[in-house]
Amino acid sequence: MALWITDECINCDVCEPECPNQAISMGAEIYQIDPLRCTECVGHFDEPQCVQVCPVSCIPVNPSYVETPAQLLAKFRGLHGGDVAEASTPSPLLGPTLPA
Ligand code: SF4
Ligand code: SF4
Repeated sequence: MALWITDECINCDVCEPECPNQAISMGAEIYQIDPLRCTECVGHFDEPQCVQVCPVSCIPVNPSYVETPAQLLAKFRGLHGGDVAEASTPSPLLGPTLPA
């Protein structure tokens, strides 16, 4: 399923930059999730990143967009045109920073 943002959203701006699919944007009053772009982070992360960072826990699943893991994976591929292994493998350029 895609996720959605309830009216408990406090517009803290934290989730938008965390979304790997650019599925989150500011709506008329609160942030919103484009269900056609939300994969529940399948293909990128083990857990939905927006849910991880939201301070008021206002991002439940969207019952109007019931999707299987396979369908979410297909959506991911449609958005990014790559495979999961590629997207999940951390870039060496983004590796851990060595202590000074
Ligand atoms: S679950 Fe992932 S893909 Fe969906 S809106 Fe949240 S951060 Fe974006
Ligand atoms: S993190 Fe939660 S409260 Fe903050 S903008 Fe996103 S949905 Fe709204």
